[in-house]
Formats: sequence, structure tokens, C-alpha cells
Amino acid sequence: MAEVLVYVDHVDGAVRKPTLELLTLARRIGEPVAVALGSGAAGTAAVLAEHGATRVLTHEAADYADYLVVPKVEALEAAVAAVSPVAVLVPSSAEAKEVAARLALRIGSGIITDAVDLEAGDSGPVATQSVFAASFTTKSVVVKGTPVITVKPNSAAVEPAAAAGAVEALDVAFSEKAHGTKVTARTARESTGRPELTEAAIVVSGGRGVNGAENFSVIEALADSLGAAVGASRAAVDAGWYPHSNQVGQTGKSVSPQLYIASGISGAIQHRAGMQTSKTIVAINKDPEAPIFDLVDYGVVGDLFDVVPALTEDVKSRKG
Ligand code: FAD
Repeated sequence: MAEVLVYVDHVDGAVRKPTLELLTLARRIGEPVAVALGSGAAGTAAVLAEHGATRVLTHEAADYADYLVVPKVEALEAAVAAVSPVAVLVPSSAEAKEVAARLALRIGSGIITDAVDLEAGDSGPVATQSVFAASFTTKSVVVKGTPVITVKPNSAAVEPAAAAGAVEALDVAFSEKAHGTKVTARTARESTGRPELTEAAIVVSGGRGVNGAENFSVIEALADSLGAAVGASRAAVDAGWYPHSNQVGQTGKSVSPQLYIASGISGAIQHRAGMQTSKTIVAINKDPEAPIFDLVDYGVVGDLFDVVPALTEDVKSRKG
């Protein structure tokens, strides 16, 4: 059966959820072969096997942490040469997309980025993308070389499927180019304990209607009751109420959670561009004419300072 390479996003052996989603999609096309690189790579094998990886190609070397993306590109290039897959699937994180683009160039292939769905087709995998601020859905196939496809988080369910997950060492010989850009320092961002914005199943966002940095505690309380990430509109970020790393939209992050709750956000096209592929959208806005109500599944016309705390209390009481 045809094999599909899946690039594993992991932190010291802990596999991130978008990779498990890729394994679900990969099984629609062929047998998933995972490629795990860097510190802890071998430790990923058990969970990858539980989610359908028939083989896990690993290569542990300090180069992956010490240099920017080129060592990873060269390892994937080696994996493509060894496996001759029908496609290479990569999570749509900022770094992995750079890896994917460079890989496609190296192997002379076409690339599709930010797919939101994937299915088998007569002439290769068919990727669905949401384009022009999510006003259109397109279906595309790569017609040149081995398709390289990046997939947005939350595009598929994580579905366990036991497979062999046989660990095999990947043979990688780095070129001089791999060591062109060295990482000289790393600063970890302070952890909020909340899920990563782009991977979260639920996102609660606040906009200008939140009316002050201190009032974001209302948004955070709802997010925490739901185990959600916190997002913000650009207006809230530009006002200095919330960090840019939490901005959702055209010039912020693109999210696609199961549930997106927009509070005090008008629904400008640039904001929609980052959240319109969310599965269920809820908006709380005191203006019944706010454009956000054009795209919601559920809308609440009301003051967020009444509605959001009441919702938080309700969620908490249901949890008991
Ligand atoms: P507003 O449009 O001011 O809306 C505030 C809303 O809150 C109103 O609808 C109001 O009725 C409601 N409200 C007020 N008080 C309450 C209350 N107490 N209870 C309930 N509702 C209340 N924007 C982004 O978000 N992300 C981007 O990435 C982004 N990129 C951009 C890129 C470019 C090139 C440009 C030109 C713009 C970009 N913008 C982006 C900005 C975008 O056009 C809007 O200005 C912005 O999204 C507005 O943010 P907002 O909805 O929070 O504020």
C-alpha cells in the first residue's frame, strides 16, 4: 500500500495534537510513516503507533535545536528519498510551514498550505483550503512531484488506530547549508497554563468592547472554565490590553477551533480571516447590527459584562 510521510511536531518526545490529527488524515490516503527528529524523537513512537503510524523514522541530533530549520528540511528530504511517499503531510505551524516550503523546493514538488481537509483523489490527495478571508472553499491537487501539504490544527479528529509503529533509524547526512544559521539564545514565554491558541479546541476572544486590559479577566475566567485559549482582536491588541501573540486575524493567528466565542468584537473582515473556519461560532455583542452576527451559529445581543460572567458561572455549575 502507498505510504504517506507525516512530519512529527513534538517537544522532547511529547507529540503535539496537530500531528495526531495528521495521522487521521494520512490514513485516508495510505499508510502513515511518521518522521520524528531531534531530542526525544524515539520517545514519540508509542503514541504514534497508537494513532496509526506503521513506521516511525527517527533521527536524534543536536543540530535540530542548534540551527534553524535547514537540518529538519534535509532530514525530511532523506525520508522522502528513502520512502518514496505519495504525499508529505506537515502541521501548519509557523516553523513547520517553513520546513514544508523549503522541502517542496528541494524535491521539486508543489505545495498546498493551510489545508482544512484532505481526501484521496484519482490524481493524488485532494486538499481543501479556505481562502479570501474564508469567503470561498477551494479543492486543489499538486500536479508536480510528491505533494507537500500543510494542514491547519483542528482540521480532523484525533482517532486512535493501533499500528506497528516500528522504529527505524533515519540515515541523515547534513550538508554545509544545514549549519548556516545558528540559534544563539532561546527565551521561553511565561506559561499561562492555557492551551496554545492555534491548537485549542475552544477559543474565547475579546475585542474593543472589553474596554481595558483589566477587564480581560472576564474573558480569561470564561476561557478557564472551558479549558480554552484566549484570543483578542487587533483593536484590543493595539490598545495594549492583550499581547500580540494572542491576536486572531489577518495579521495575527489563524484559528480553527471546535468553538469560537467572540465577545465585544464587531466582526471586521480582517478578524474573520483568522477565525471563520471555526466549527461553531458564538458572538456576544450589544449591537444587534454588528457584522459578526452574519457568520455566527449562536448570537447573544447583550452587554458582555452581564453575559460572559453569567456564562462562566453556568459552565462552572454544570461541572459541579
Ligand atoms: P470594534 O470594531 O470597535 O468593535 C467593538 C465591538 O464591541 C462593537 O461591535 C461593539 O458593539 C461591541 N461592544 C462594545 N461594548 C460592548 C459590551 N459592553 N458588550 C458587548 N459588546 C460590546 N483585526 C483583527 O481583529 N485581527 C487582525 O489580524 C487584523 N488585521 C488587520 C490588518 C489590516 C491590514 C487592517 C487594515 C486591519 C486589521 N484588523 C485586524 C483591524 C480590523 O479592521 C478591525 O479594526 C478590528 O478587528 C476591530 O476590532 P474590534 O472588533 O475589537 O473593535
